[in-house]
Amino acid sequence: MNARQYYNSIKKDRDAWAKSMRQGCMLCGKPNKRLDIHEILRKSQAPKAWAFPANYLLLDRGCHESSEIAATTRENLITQLAVKLIRDPENYDLQKWLTTRHSKATQYLSETEIHSRALLLTAQKFQTQFRL
Ligand SMILES: [Zn+2]
Repeated sequence: MNARQYYNSIKKDRDAWAKSMRQGCMLCGKPNKRLDIHEILRKSQAPKAWAFPANYLLLDRGCHESSEIAATTRENLITQLAVKLIRDPENYDLQKWLTTRHSKATQYLSETEIHSRALLLTAQKFQTQFRL
């Protein structure tokens, strides 16, 4: 199966996932009708394995192109997985994400790091909302 055939085989499930989500940007929270599906683990990093719900974020164009998303640094991956945990907890799955990325490097990121970042992001949002 080539990359094109792989995409065609997963497209329906990928679109169904996007439809099932709240129609707003998962990073900034703004409602938007034009949203992109972002793959946390890039297509180029896992050409025939990138399509699974734990790997997706729904983002508006501005956030999709922002530096927090565009660069695949370890710090950015922690943020993206924390956003996944906050916005789509039913599909959050760190072990699945890690083993798809690299079958042996399952300690690359820890649950503690993701949960700590999620708490920090939530606290920042809370402070903004209530002007503490
Ligand atoms: Zn956004």
